[in-house]
Amino acid sequence: MFPLDKFQKLSTPFYYYDTKLLRETLKCIRESISENMHVHYAVKACANPKILSIIAQEGFGADCVSGGEIEAALSAGFPAKKIVYAGVGKSDSEIMLGLKNNIFAFNVESIPELEIINQLAVENGKTARIALRINPNVGAHTHANITTGLAENKFGIDMQDMEHIIKLASEMKGVKFIGLHFHIGSQILEMDDFVALSRRINDIQDRLDSQGFPIASDINVGGGLGIDYEQPDANPIPDFHSYFNTYRKHLKLRPGQQLHFELGRAIMAQCGTLLSRVLYIKSNPIKNFCIVDAGMTDLIRPALYGAYHQIDNLTAENTTDFVTYDVVGPICESSDVFIKNYGMPRTKRGDMIAFRSAGAYGEIMASCYNCRRLPHGYTTEDLL
Ligand SMILES: *Cc1c(COP(=O)(O)O)cnc(C)c1O
Repeated sequence: MFPLDKFQKLSTPFYYYDTKLLRETLKCIRESISENMHVHYAVKACANPKILSIIAQEGFGADCVSGGEIEAALSAGFPAKKIVYAGVGKSDSEIMLGLKNNIFAFNVESIPELEIINQLAVENGKTARIALRINPNVGAHTHANITTGLAENKFGIDMQDMEHIIKLASEMKGVKFIGLHFHIGSQILEMDDFVALSRRINDIQDRLDSQGFPIASDINVGGGLGIDYEQPDANPIPDFHSYFNTYRKHLKLRPGQQLHFELGRAIMAQCGTLLSRVLYIKSNPIKNFCIVDAGMTDLIRPALYGAYHQIDNLTAENTTDFVTYDVVGPICESSDVFIKNYGMPRTKRGDMIAFRSAGAYGEIMASCYNCRRLPHGYTTEDLL
């Protein structure tokens, strides 16, 4: 499934994106959604320009969290009317960029932000469509660093302030309130978490209805659908049918309401692989270290979140002779470890190693620490 002969000609480390799998994934999403559902790709998962342009061509929108991402999305061909923009700290110039391009919506996270968007819009003769990002106080069963929907998290507006802010917005000349936005976390595999979010949104809509607020035209439930890091070959495409069905079944939309999603990881993670070569095998009485030429600067998720990535030796000679390794990178940090005590076929200098499921939050988080070069990203088409 990997073009190994092509890989052998390239210097490592580099990312490889399987664009056939990406297109299949996007097709599966298109076939799982209804007409009132709109999927915006979360650009922060992977902003490789070739990847962005494929996703744009396939008709998806973009979910951006910075001005730089809005620019990347626009230059990849995403239409401004399909761009949503979230973030707790939008700067004036980023807001201006969104206003100038007339993006679909700003997901607003505080009153001071709402006031600045209004002020800049009025000064520039614009109207900003806004959705309020509500903190639904719904916990997700995922890593503590990637839950976002609890009261203790920095994201969103507290539910108790909702009515006040909707009233404020309705009195502002520069903004038009269009809806409510939520995002409870990432790598969520329990559909119950999305059920809980749906119920919370139902309660919120009932509460707003009972006070006579006009019906929002748009509900945005964010992203967060997880993927199978343990078995990338068995489950290359997430279960989009159950995901969208969960919302179809539990979320009570009002007539005409449009439902928006912001998926990042679920679209990109399985499509990307980090390739690396083994530099040295070093053994001491208690450990075998497999030292590879990729490090936390290329893929930080294991060091940052203790994340698991399946590691395949693509050039192992004897696939039954298993040895236990700590797979580590060359960076001068003790946390530069991909995995400890990992069973792999006996590995030697020069072997080609694949870090699987690395398409989301991989290349985009790479850094130049230790004056390293950023990894290249190649697509299937690049290597034909
Ligand atoms: C990160 C993020 C997403 C995407 O999350 P995934 O887990 O990659 O699907 C969606 N919406 C917002 C507001 C985000 O910050």
